[in-house]
Amino acid sequence: MLEQGELIRYSRQIMIPAIGEEGQRKLKSSHVIIAGIGGLGCTTATCLTAAGVGHITIIDSDSVELSDLNRQILYWEEDVGEKKVVVAQKKLSKLNPTVEIIPIFTKITGENILDIIDGAQVVVDGLDNLPTRLLVNSACVKHKIPYIYGGVSRLRGMVTTIIPGKTPCLACGYPEATQRGGGHGVLGVIPALIANLQALETIKVIIGHSPSLAGRLLLFSGEDVKFRVYDIERNKNCQVCSQM
Ligand SMILES: [Zn+2]
Repeated sequence: MLEQGELIRYSRQIMIPAIGEEGQRKLKSSHVIIAGIGGLGCTTATCLTAAGVGHITIIDSDSVELSDLNRQILYWEEDVGEKKVVVAQKKLSKLNPTVEIIPIFTKITGENILDIIDGAQVVVDGLDNLPTRLLVNSACVKHKIPYIYGGVSRLRGMVTTIIPGKTPCLACGYPEATQRGGGHGVLGVIPALIANLQALETIKVIIGHSPSLAGRLLLFSGEDVKFRVYDIERNKNCQVCSQM
């Protein structure tokens, strides 16, 4: 059930026919995992907290650095040196106290990832390296949990939605942009833009609407300000998803 305060808080999105009270109830009862709360994760977490996703787990093993502040919008100068998940939990809870924010200060490994994502409706990619993304991808395929991939570098970004058993997975082979954003430089608006699209896909999955980027890779170039979308194919020989 939605309480009176929630009906007011979410009124602008409840009046959208595709969401309505039923969609809002689905958001409230859902659990989303945000793997990595950096440039991408800060924005997806903010959007999903504001939208009323009921339970959000944020995972990260880093502390805030001064060089994070150009793009990781949950962290301010006073937070430098603090654990990201602790700062993010505090601020997200102030934004929307009706949402349960679960902070996990840990590095994602092959040992812990299956337990961390168990029971989640969606896992959102906020990571900065390919090996960890592949771990999360395999775990999502195994648990049949949609995984919203996002990657950024310099003035470019990409997004795709992986629905296990239906779309290609990350291990089927995606081009670059799985590299560390910071290593190549990144303008803060790029992860913000990509993360908003990840949040939109997440909400569509939860309310039962077809995610628009399932099996499609969206590439954004900030140089010419163009979005390009490509259909992508499953790899029949993929070691992760070909048995599904
Ligand atoms: Zn695959």
